[in-house]
Amino acid sequence: MGIMGGTFDPIHLGHLVIAEEVRIQFKLDKVVFVPTGNPPHKVTGHVTDPEHRYLMTVLATINNPYFTVSRVETDRVQALTYTIDTIRFFNNYYDGKANLYFITGADAILDILTWKDYKELLSICHFIAATRPGYSLEKLKDTISAASPDALRNIQVLEIPGMQISSTLIRSRVSAGKPIKYLTPDSVTEYISKNSLYRNEQERV
Ligand code: NAP
Repeated sequence: MGIMGGTFDPIHLGHLVIAEEVRIQFKLDKVVFVPTGNPPHKVTGHVTDPEHRYLMTVLATINNPYFTVSRVETDRVQALTYTIDTIRFFNNYYDGKANLYFITGADAILDILTWKDYKELLSICHFIAATRPGYSLEKLKDTISAASPDALRNIQVLEIPGMQISSTLIRSRVSAGKPIKYLTPDSVTEYISKNSLYRNEQERV
C-alpha cells in the first residue's frame, strides 16, 4: 500500500496525479493520504490548522475508490509527528505483512538522513520521491549516496511530467485574489473560499 505524506496546505491536482501514478506503476492496492500533524521541520513556520488540511484532503480524494485519508498525524498534534511513528503505526496495524511505500516530494526526501530513526525507516518502508520536471535527480542521488550508499537502494525517484502546480502557488494566487480553478478540485476551492484560507499570506508565500 502507498502512504502519501505531505503538509497538503492545500492539497492540489499535482498530489492526486502523483498518488494515482504511483498506485498504477507500483501496483498498489490503495493509497492512504496522511496530512502532517505537527511536523518537526515546521515548528517555527506557519502551517494551516491540521483539521482544515485533513478535511481538504478528504474532499480532494473522495472520488477515487483507491484513496483514503488517515487522521493518524492529525490526532497526534500535541506532540511532534515523525514519519517513523506513522510508518510503525501502519506496520503494526498490518502485523508487518504490508509492503509499505511512502510517497512524498523529492525535496523532503533530500533531508531524509536527518529524520528520526531514518535507518529503521528505510528498512521497513520503500520511498518514492516525486519530482517536478527540471528537478536535479543527480542532486538527490549525490546527497543521499554520499552520506549513506545503502539508503539509495530503498528510494525510487519518479518524475511527473507537466506538473508545475505547488501548494505555494495556490496560496499565493488566493492571497493575490487570483482564481485557482483547475489547480485543485472544485470542492477544495470552495472549502478555501468558505473558510477564508490563504487570504493574507504574503509573508509566508
Ligand atoms: P515540504 O517541505 O512542505 O515539501 C517539500 C516539497 O515536496 C515541496 O515541493 C512540496 O510541494 C513537495 N511535496 C510534499 N509532499 C508531497 C507529496 N506527497 N507528493 C509530492 N510532492 C510533495 O514537505 P512536507 O510536506 O512538510 O513533508 C513531506 C513528508 O515528509 C511529510 O509526510 C512529513 O511528515 C515528512 N517528513 C518527516 C520528517 C521526520 O520524520 N523527521 C521530516 C521532514 C518531513 P507542495 O508544497 O506542492 O506539496
